[in-house]
Amino acid sequence: MDALQRQAMSQEQDRRRAVELQRLAAALQRLDDGEYGYCTQCGEEIPEKRLAVDPAAHLCVACARLGEG
Ligand SMILES: [Zn+2]
Repeated sequence: MDALQRQAMSQEQDRRRAVELQRLAAALQRLDDGEYGYCTQCGEEIPEKRLAVDPAAHLCVACARLGEG
């Protein structure tokens, strides 16, 4: 692997880490605001199972599906 490829890979890893940190920071902010566990889109409660899989989830299943759609 050459230096350019290595650099590109580590940049991609940095980018993903930054996104993940941002998601966690946002989740902590919602925890502070007492809004944690509620969908930021429609206000519905996010199922515990979903939060167990992704503790930083901010959308309920329905809104997440819409977003992906
Ligand atoms: Zn929702």
